[in-house]
Amino acid sequence: MLTDTHCHLDYNKFDPDREAVIARALESGLIRMLVPGLHHKSSRDAVQLAESNASVYAAVGFHPTDLEEFSEKTFGEVKELAKHPKVVAIGEIGIDYYWVKEKDQRALQRGVLNQQLQFAKEINKPVILHMREENDAWFGEASQDLLKILEDWQRGLQSPLADRPGVLHSFNGNLETAQKALALNFYLGITGPVTYKNADEKREMIKQLPLDRMLIETDSPFLSPVPERGKRNEPAFVHHIADKIAEIHLKSPVEIASITTANAARLFAWGD
Ligand SMILES: [Zn+2]
Repeated sequence: MLTDTHCHLDYNKFDPDREAVIARALESGLIRMLVPGLHHKSSRDAVQLAESNASVYAAVGFHPTDLEEFSEKTFGEVKELAKHPKVVAIGEIGIDYYWVKEKDQRALQRGVLNQQLQFAKEINKPVILHMREENDAWFGEASQDLLKILEDWQRGLQSPLADRPGVLHSFNGNLETAQKALALNFYLGITGPVTYKNADEKREMIKQLPLDRMLIETDSPFLSPVPERGKRNEPAFVHHIADKIAEIHLKSPVEIASITTANAARLFAWGD
């Protein structure tokens, strides 16, 4: 029983065989997949995929590097989509200082993030957060800015959202950032890089994270795990991440699958 809480199945890389990709995922033991939106059009596609596939759920929102068409009108469209019963989160939203260097554009990212967090609070749905540092370091301005924004936001929430406010997707921060996010009740999403040969330091950190707050995600079509590295990633590969976490935490892959599936069900409130 596996869940992939982050796969971009709307990407054109899946145009030739999208239905086969979903079928392979189900055959390999997945019970649910969550497709996050990157902007209003991608959010529309994510909702459509969720409508036509029982095991697919959607999130809607504007990714920090996809703000060209962000406006009152397009945000309004996303807000409408968010009411759909299969939209379980607002995302992916966040901060990206790797692709965006200009100060005013970074300020815009933070402003849009705050608007989307405010909206998530209004409709009482958790958030899926993207965070990337300027130089792929584990800690820097992006972590600092994101934590500050999340602290302020989480403080204003009420239960149950305050107890399950969201996930730091494809978590690539340091242990201190992880601990601060956990203290704010956030979950942490683990992706393919945990399987990479040179990722000992990352595995050391993951060893210190509690399993009951961990999600596993492919981020398809990106970040293919070993031994599929170099290929297009797809949800059927998510078990490689479960296998690696099992190794790190001295558990069986089946245990990790069922723990992370239960975590996802709790966070996204989609039942069992
Ligand atoms: Zn993503």
